[in-house]
Amino acid sequence: MRTTIERRDLGPRDVLIEITYAGICHSDIHTVRGEWGKVPYPLTVGHEIVGHVTEVGAEVTRHAVGDRVGVGCMVNSCRECENCKAGMEQYCLDGNTGTYAAVDKDGTVTQGGYSTHIVVVEDFVLRVPESIPHEAAAPLLCAGITTYSPLAHWKAGPGKKVAVVGLGGLGHMGVKIAVAMGAEVTVLSQTLSKKDEGLAFGAQHYHATGDPATFETLKNTFDLIINTVSAPIDMGAYLSLLRLDGTFVSVGAPPEPLPIQVFTLFNNRRSFAGSSIGGIAETQEMLDFCAERGIAPQVEVISADEVNDAYERVLKSDVRYRFVIDIASLR
Ligand code: NAP
Ligand code: ZN
Ligand code: ZN
Repeated sequence: MRTTIERRDLGPRDVLIEITYAGICHSDIHTVRGEWGKVPYPLTVGHEIVGHVTEVGAEVTRHAVGDRVGVGCMVNSCRECENCKAGMEQYCLDGNTGTYAAVDKDGTVTQGGYSTHIVVVEDFVLRVPESIPHEAAAPLLCAGITTYSPLAHWKAGPGKKVAVVGLGGLGHMGVKIAVAMGAEVTVLSQTLSKKDEGLAFGAQHYHATGDPATFETLKNTFDLIINTVSAPIDMGAYLSLLRLDGTFVSVGAPPEPLPIQVFTLFNNRRSFAGSSIGGIAETQEMLDFCAERGIAPQVEVISADEVNDAYERVLKSDVRYRFVIDIASLR
């Protein structure tokens, strides 16, 4: 449904962005379906935002009119707590201000990127390198950073065996980034239907999790498993794939709990962890890394009228590999 949302007047440190493309993240779907809790209607979602700066506040120094910029999953934080000071605004102890469905500093509910314009304080606006096409840059702002951050933190690189579970929006970026970091990468997908593409993204190995033999063959194999699945999975089966000191990181955010039998962690001194997006400086680092390495998401550009159909395809695991809305279709 189309509607009109109000953006705040430009403050001295704010940037007005004319949005060109907005990616569709599964988090948008969890949110609008009420799977993560009550929805503060009326709500516009979208936190993979790319566009041009069209106006800046009087005190803005980091961005200028005409710049290609992006906005990801958060638009503010307290900036004073130890996590903010360490550059990890996503873990702000006061709670970061989400790009949508959050209460902003002025008490209003934040509205996301499926819209023509957005006003964001300059510190939470990223520079988008020229070499990345606009529509391909959008998914980097969430899918890119959410996989880059744990891969960097747990040191995916040469000599490390990394598995990516689920080959959707996050998963395909996780594969490309882990490969660029030098890791040996395995895709664990429900079926082998996307095997050719997974290998083309650079993965060395590809297995179907629907085949029980996969869990026998790959027992005690991985240093790091990045789980991008939006639904609950059999944790015991996946943890058994970790070798000594291996870590299973969930970035997938199903509403249901993921039950764990602790004895599975005792074996091989395994760890289970979660990871949330990435800090602002780290997001800039990821954008520059992807530009330097020539890595970009594989996107399917759609018009605003096709959003509901796109959601249905994402829910059927039929996304290849990120839907991006051409915001020109909204104007
Ligand atoms: P997506 O494009 O829908 O990808 C998820 C993939 O998981 C699917 O393509 C499918 O891959 C697999 N899958 C789906 N249902 C499954 C099931 N029932 N059993 C096994 N595998 C299943 O979603 P996304 O946008 O990448 O987001 C993935 C998850 O990450 C969502 O829960 C989202 O909310 C969350 N997320 C978290 C963060 C964070 O900061 N931690 C940030 C962004 C998103 P195959 O077809 O290959 O099996
Ligand atoms: Zn997202
Ligand atoms: Zn903070």
